[in-house]
Amino acid sequence: MAVATQHLLDKTDEQKDITAMVRQFVDERIIPQAGHYDHEDEFPEPIVEQMKELGLFGVTIPEEYGGMGLDLTTYTMIVEELSRGWISISGIVNTHFIGSYLLMQYGTDEQRDRLLPRMATGEIRASFSLSEPELGSDVQAIKSTGKKLDDGAYELNGQKMWVTNGLLSGVCFVLVKTDPQADPRHKGMTCFIAEKEPGEHENTGDYAGFTVPPKLKKMGYKGVESTELIFDGYRCPAENILGGEDEGLGRGFVQMMDALEVGRVNVAARGVGIAQRALELALRYSQERKTFGKPIAEHQAIQFKLADMATKVDAARLMTLRAARLKDAGERSDLEAGMAKLLASETGKECVEDSFRIHGGYGYSKEYEIERLYRDAPLLLIGEGTSEIQRMVIGKKLLQRHKI
Ligand SMILES: Cc1cc2nc3c(=O)[nH]c(=O)nc-3n(C[C@H](O)[C@H](O)[C@H](O)COP(=O)(O)OP(=O)(O)OC[C@H]3O[C@@H](n4cnc5c(N)ncnc54)[C@H](O)[C@@H]3O)c2cc1C
Repeated sequence: MAVATQHLLDKTDEQKDITAMVRQFVDERIIPQAGHYDHEDEFPEPIVEQMKELGLFGVTIPEEYGGMGLDLTTYTMIVEELSRGWISISGIVNTHFIGSYLLMQYGTDEQRDRLLPRMATGEIRASFSLSEPELGSDVQAIKSTGKKLDDGAYELNGQKMWVTNGLLSGVCFVLVKTDPQADPRHKGMTCFIAEKEPGEHENTGDYAGFTVPPKLKKMGYKGVESTELIFDGYRCPAENILGGEDEGLGRGFVQMMDALEVGRVNVAARGVGIAQRALELALRYSQERKTFGKPIAEHQAIQFKLADMATKVDAARLMTLRAARLKDAGERSDLEAGMAKLLASETGKECVEDSFRIHGGYGYSKEYEIERLYRDAPLLLIGEGTSEIQRMVIGKKLLQRHKI
């Protein structure tokens, strides 16, 4: 393996600078505000405006398109910091990152030139949509369709579910069936770049037939909207097939699965970030709170919890960085991305629960940050493939790599 593990935690000077800058932004701007936006379930517009100014929507977009042109490893470090503040903020960036990855990997020159400069500044943001009301894990069961019309354009019909940034995005990378009879099923799937008016529920004109119902009400992960999308006779020009009609028709499943691989590294970084924050809160609270005449941190049972949390956070961070570095080095990282996502998302949930327990009754109070983390952490067990799906991916890849 080309990536030396002893260097996994090393940061370049550029990485040190950028993560320090993001950490300061998180400490000053996100953590003090997250409780308010979470409570009101309100989109954190001022925070997002500042993120635009910091260039955080163009981290991985090449400099020629106005982005920072940084690698997945650096992006992963940034996502950990943002998620330490509030995973809804990293959720606003996450689908945008996946959209820009799809364009950079598979887009035509025209698609990149038209969209990437405006995506790098955050002027338009991206969502991506696989899930439908009747499916999430079983992506090949998608029912939404794209049918070619006589004039060469495609008509999209169907209902999508759980689209993060579904309302405020200006462009949605949406996977539909263009050949429902295809065998194998994935060969009949195509990714369309569906453009729309950000913030409009009922689109008109060129975007007529693209409707965004009111946002879904959720347990946590508030502030960032998750919506259904309804396509009812929405016309999409053939040029909006990701990669163009010749290269992209029937290639959508493969494109999306590739994007999900980097998406998994991204979700793993979110798990590390929320776990890190839960640990920080537990370290502080356990030294402040006294029972039986001493800080609870001096009870061995509490120290063991802290020890387990810190150990798991470190392990999850190392695995996440390894997956990112392998991808950056052009090595296979499918197995490693699945393992990192599985471990880090479970670590996020477990550390939040331990921290919650350490907070005693106050952990149940909305006055304490851990209460929000407790509602936010489970999301990471679901997005970009549940833990069961990660185990399926890991098992399959293991057997492929160790075939006898
Ligand atoms: C807040 C939120 C935001 C989201 N954002 C997006 C988004 O932006 N874009 C998007 O496309 N989707 C999004 N999703 C959808 C998410 O990707 C799916 O919820 C997820 O893939 C699981 O699918 P499902 O909910 O249909 O569960 P199902 O696939 O119905 O699974 C139900 C249960 O069965 C298990 N299971 C399924 N198949 C197997 C199997 N073969 N073996 C063992 N166990 C199995 C699952 O692990 C799970 O425990 C979001 C979801 C949420 C909650």
